[in-house]
Amino acid sequence: MTFTSDHSMRRRRFVQICGSAAAVACAPAAAAEPSAVSGGDATSGKDYDVIVLGLGAMGSACLYHLARGGARVLGIEQHDLAHALGSSGGLSRQTKVLPYLGGRSEPIIRRANENWIQLEKDAGQQVFHRCGYLRISNNQKLPDHPAAKSLDLLDARAFASRFPQFEKLPDGTNAILDPEGGLLRPELAIASHCHVALRRGAHIRAQEAVTDWRSDDAGVSVTTSRGQYRARHLVIAAGAWNGKLIPAFKDKLQVTRLTLGWFEPQQAEHFDIASFPIWEHGSYYGFPILPDYPGFKVAKHWRGDPADPETLDRRPGANDEKLVRCYLEKHLPSANGSITAFKVCMYVHGGPWLGLLPGQTRVSFIAACNGGGFKFSSAYGEALAEIATEGRTSLPIDFMSPAA
Ligand SMILES: Cc1cc2nc3c(=O)[nH]c(=O)nc-3n(C[C@H](O)[C@H](O)[C@H](O)COP(=O)(O)OP(=O)(O)OC[C@H]3O[C@@H](n4cnc5c(N)ncnc54)[C@H](O)[C@@H]3O)c2cc1C
Repeated sequence: MTFTSDHSMRRRRFVQICGSAAAVACAPAAAAEPSAVSGGDATSGKDYDVIVLGLGAMGSACLYHLARGGARVLGIEQHDLAHALGSSGGLSRQTKVLPYLGGRSEPIIRRANENWIQLEKDAGQQVFHRCGYLRISNNQKLPDHPAAKSLDLLDARAFASRFPQFEKLPDGTNAILDPEGGLLRPELAIASHCHVALRRGAHIRAQEAVTDWRSDDAGVSVTTSRGQYRARHLVIAAGAWNGKLIPAFKDKLQVTRLTLGWFEPQQAEHFDIASFPIWEHGSYYGFPILPDYPGFKVAKHWRGDPADPETLDRRPGANDEKLVRCYLEKHLPSANGSITAFKVCMYVHGGPWLGLLPGQTRVSFIAACNGGGFKFSSAYGEALAEIATEGRTSLPIDFMSPAA
């Protein structure tokens, strides 16, 4: 693996690419038209190296890496920063290494974990709690991989004695504990990415929806509800809205509605993040109680009901509750208490795609959610930034090319 972590070197390479060697391709774009309602801030009438459309998990990470690398970058977000109306709300996201060992995503998750650490240093904010990942299943064996030595295989007896919270598990059930797993704080991660990007000179326009974009030989033009901007490159990271902005992918991306529930256990200390890991058992998964939010979070990973981000029913209903209560009743009865919160979120099925849009040299996009994209977002953001500035990425993600 030869990932570049030296951002000043990357900036120098970027300047070289956009300097004499590629003067024609990177000629300064036409001046942006002044915006009628731009608020008189620094963004109006300015040309950018890159515009990032959408500042959720993927876009905010991309913005951070671009700003860190020295690019002149503008991020545009239709809602507030770190809002809960897309795919990244809900206080916690699982991350783990075990399922990816030996597979094509192992280098991506390892790079992502390095990047979370770097983000924490840059922002002075913890976003990754390494509380471990517990995979509960049947007759599991440790994978044949050098990293397996750090994993803990718990037979039925060891599992029951260490995690008596789980009850009535079928014969043959065992568990593997992955110490590299844990939970990420999505809203804090997005806010931290944006915070550092701003400190590194990025411009951000929140509460401003992109209504149109166009590319030409010199660059891209982006029209929003408040103005128009130009850049050399556009990164589209609009999550569940991608299909509305990229007609060619509209039918390849399906949005569905999922829910997340928080419950008050009989004894909260039995589910505390200091001693309880994130866990997964079949299609159910959950999170320990956070220091700053009450309730034990449980969810079901399934396809979800078809949805549209503009008309999504954001009110949780009785069926949503039933979906997770049935697991709690059977296997975690001591956590089956009152609801402390219930939230609605969106999966996007399709892809994963990351790279230049087919037929475009100045527009790239990412569609890599599928219910498990957050943990990779710090690495995906870096790859998007590299593609936008250098035309390629050192992350081994050829399998995600939208052109493939
Ligand atoms: C219930 C649930 C549980 C999950 N659990 C996990 C987990 O445990 N682990 C994990 O790794 N992943 C998990 N995921 C997946 C992960 O959360 C997503 O992959 C990730 O958050 C997607 O990020 P995104 O940037 O693509 O989308 P978002 O974060 O939704 O960002 C897209 C952004 O684009 C903005 N936007 C859209 N259109 C426009 C426009 N026209 N103009 C301006 N801005 C625009 C939106 O407002 C939004 O902010 C889960 C997802 C859900 C829904």
